[in-house]
Amino acid sequence: MNYANNILETIGNTPLVKLNTLTKELPCLVLSKYETFNPGNSVKDRMALQMIEDAEADGRLKPGGTIIEGTSGNTGMGLALAAIVKGYKCIFVMADKQSKEKIDILRAVGAEVVVCPTNVEPDDPRSYYSVSKRLGEETPNSWYVNQYDNPSNCKAHFLSTGPEIWEQTQGKVTHFVVGVGTGGTISGVGSYLKMKARETGSSVKIWGVDTYGSVFKKYHETGVFDENEIYPYITEGIGEDILPLNVNFGVIDGFTKVTDKDAAIYTQRLAKEEGMFLGNSAGAAVKGLLQLKEHFTKDDVVVVLFHDHGSRYVGKMFNNDWMRDRGFVEEEIKTAADLVLKHNGKPLVVVQTEELVSHAIERMKSLKISQLPVRDINGFVGSIDESDLLHHFIADKNIADKPIKDIMGKPYPIVDKAAKLEDVSKLITKENQAVLVSLENGSHQIITKYDIISAM
Ligand code: PMP
Repeated sequence: MNYANNILETIGNTPLVKLNTLTKELPCLVLSKYETFNPGNSVKDRMALQMIEDAEADGRLKPGGTIIEGTSGNTGMGLALAAIVKGYKCIFVMADKQSKEKIDILRAVGAEVVVCPTNVEPDDPRSYYSVSKRLGEETPNSWYVNQYDNPSNCKAHFLSTGPEIWEQTQGKVTHFVVGVGTGGTISGVGSYLKMKARETGSSVKIWGVDTYGSVFKKYHETGVFDENEIYPYITEGIGEDILPLNVNFGVIDGFTKVTDKDAAIYTQRLAKEEGMFLGNSAGAAVKGLLQLKEHFTKDDVVVVLFHDHGSRYVGKMFNNDWMRDRGFVEEEIKTAADLVLKHNGKPLVVVQTEELVSHAIERMKSLKISQLPVRDINGFVGSIDESDLLHHFIADKNIADKPIKDIMGKPYPIVDKAAKLEDVSKLITKENQAVLVSLENGSHQIITKYDIISAM
């Protein structure tokens, strides 16, 4: 019979899978180290088990102990699986920007999860780093894992991921491209591949994929830890606002940065165009690889590592409403009709010439709009906007009881639904706040400065 004695024995020996569609423009063979085949659905199972076994070996982790860690989810999953098999408890600390699925998944495997704010300094007592350290000090018989600085993280990849890639490519790998968070994956795999390349007289380049809002790329290029580069970002799993000890900058040949939008779009494209349902850092890694195009030649064998599974991102990068809210959906806006699509057919709000100014103010306040077209029985004859109202009000405090026709400005220009975006935007000026679009059913919609800006 052929079976594993427990789930931990199934960690590692993941397949190497060729990319066929997204990398068509590259001259070389691109192979992905497909880490979602691990039992916790991520590469992190490898280092979680290594960290636990090393802590058991030197007595940091004792029988019945509690494992404490700050984790974005994947390391937590690996630790939780090992803790179940080996009889430990787990408390995990997570930043609130992480997907809800990741939190729920950790709770599903028996861990206690503490959620901390993302947008605080690392040394703030509420930060995910500080809370995990404090819990480590306060909980009896506990062990604080600290994947950032724990050398067993990098060691796991030196001992398993690196050798697997070397053997699977028969030593032909020429480039390794991977997202960098704690740095364990890039440093462990990178050191192993460089060691083997030295031994065999071949060459291998190690490329890190970083995010905008993270310090790695600039630090690697200049030695400067630039705090100005640190700001909140959306991409999950990679980039840091600290320099973890596990990042061995010496084995890394270069970094490329990928935007949140590109990482999200390529996460979707991997699923739709390669049948690879993967996490957000896989999207970043593929986009990073495409950005490095000029470094690859025909005979190169490029290995990219995919860290985790798409199921953890169904509420985010795989949810088109979430993508649209962040401006990540590529919508081609060319005409006036495209611009008003977002109004979802809601009827145009207007005011009549004989209505009182107070009515218009009420309508603008309740619907949170800044300008209104004015109509009479013959059609559009004027307009009012917030700044007109303010000027009139300063001049005459009784304005609210006057009819709109006394204070209205010029009517908005009317364009055909096929009018080009550039022509519509030219019509919006300081003096003219909006444009009306006539639609086929005889109705009209309004285009404001806001609509034009959101289309850019
Ligand atoms: N991608 C995902 C989804 C991760 O969880 C992590 C770990 N933070 C990484 C990439 C980066 O890997 P490493 O920590 O080994 O640099």
